[in-house]
Amino acid sequence: MQDFREEVRDWLETHCPPAARGRGEPITIGTKRPMKDPALLAWRHELGSRGWTVPLWPKEYGGGGLSAEQNQILQEELGAIKARVPIGGMGVSMIGPTLLEYGTEDQKLRHLPCIAMGDIAWCQGYSEPGAGSDLAALQTKMIDKGDVFQINGQKIWTSGANFADWIFTLVRTDPNAAKHEGISFILIDMNQPGVTVKPIKLISGNSPFCETFFDDAVARKDDLVGQLNRGWTVGKRLLQHERSGQGGLRAGARQAVRRNMLAETAASYVGVTPAGRISDAVMRDTVVRFTMDQHSFRITQKRAREENTSGATPGEATSIFKLYGATLGRDIADFKLQLMGSQGYGWQSDGFTEDEIESTRGFLSSRAMTIYGGTNEIQMNIIAKRVLGLPD
Ligand SMILES: Cc1cc2nc3c(=O)[nH]c(=O)nc-3n(C[C@H](O)[C@H](O)[C@H](O)COP(=O)(O)OP(=O)(O)OC[C@H]3O[C@@H](n4cnc5c(N)ncnc54)[C@H](O)[C@@H]3O)c2cc1C
Repeated sequence: MQDFREEVRDWLETHCPPAARGRGEPITIGTKRPMKDPALLAWRHELGSRGWTVPLWPKEYGGGGLSAEQNQILQEELGAIKARVPIGGMGVSMIGPTLLEYGTEDQKLRHLPCIAMGDIAWCQGYSEPGAGSDLAALQTKMIDKGDVFQINGQKIWTSGANFADWIFTLVRTDPNAAKHEGISFILIDMNQPGVTVKPIKLISGNSPFCETFFDDAVARKDDLVGQLNRGWTVGKRLLQHERSGQGGLRAGARQAVRRNMLAETAASYVGVTPAGRISDAVMRDTVVRFTMDQHSFRITQKRAREENTSGATPGEATSIFKLYGATLGRDIADFKLQLMGSQGYGWQSDGFTEDEIESTRGFLSSRAMTIYGGTNEIQMNIIAKRVLGLPD
């Protein structure tokens, strides 16, 4: 393995430009958010051509074909030079692993290498105005038009749809079948007149998600994933890939080195005794409790990743990690606000530092973690029924 480490180190030294190390312009994916610095695009393509944006995927589909141990080394070496890597996105974390399991050979060859290169950005068209937790209530319709499928309907909360090139979506193909049947899983090119995206503007001014409308949109017949009317199984599996990422279970994920932010926040806002302890005993105890919870969760995630020698995304157990992580994140954000007092409510006036304003937004977005990918209540239902086997 030492040889491999040296090979990686040499390669990175030659190919990773200074512009891609440390903080800087984000490395984006897809066609709709071009990067200003051409060196970053070149870096994304170099890394993608080597298969190291998706190191564990098979080489024939644009991956690196690395073992878990080799990937660990790659992540350590990327971390050592603080390389910014275009590894995120729903292509890599959701539709890619789903196609590896359920896609036809043609689908894998057409779609996976574009994801690996970062050339195509994907979004997720699941939720509808009348179908969120009860996802199987979805009404967007897809009909067979001979050479193509035709899609009509509306999705909502489509994260990043305004920057996406393709959307993976669940549609109703048999309105007379039972609710969970008659649903199909289809891949749709968003660059066509039948697809309209309307960003939803939030109070913060950002538009992280959109409404997505299909008006006689078309999809290729060979972009149906799995069988017609059997898309629910594929769609559920994709959610496990999504939750596995949210719960920190994804094989080969880079473990971030984290500072003890709570202790630092408490020291700044509550103060410390001459001996260096947080001066308020109750706050001190809570800092210790949350720090231990965070640490225990991280080592449990690490153990679960290491025990998963196959590298496959776990099944229903992903819900346990998703639920715990989202709840802990939310509770810590609440507590941080208590530590900061009124300085924790900064929005835009002069009396707040940039970090304080950032912290307010962090508090608000900590709520989102308990909703996307299935709400906390839905995760509890899955754990009760599918993990613990409790009666329906
Ligand atoms: C930041 C963010 C990003 C998102 N991105 C996407 C995306 O990219 N693509 C996409 O398709 N969707 C996306 N969503 C939508 C998300 O999946 C839904 O919001 C979520 O599934 C909940 O659906 P809903 O909003 O319709 O709430 P509802 O389903 O109406 O739920 C309302 C409340 O009722 C509770 N509830 C509902 N049913 C039950 C039950 N059976 N038992 C107990 N409690 C229940 C819920 O827990 C919740 O508290 C995103 C959401 C957020 C917040």
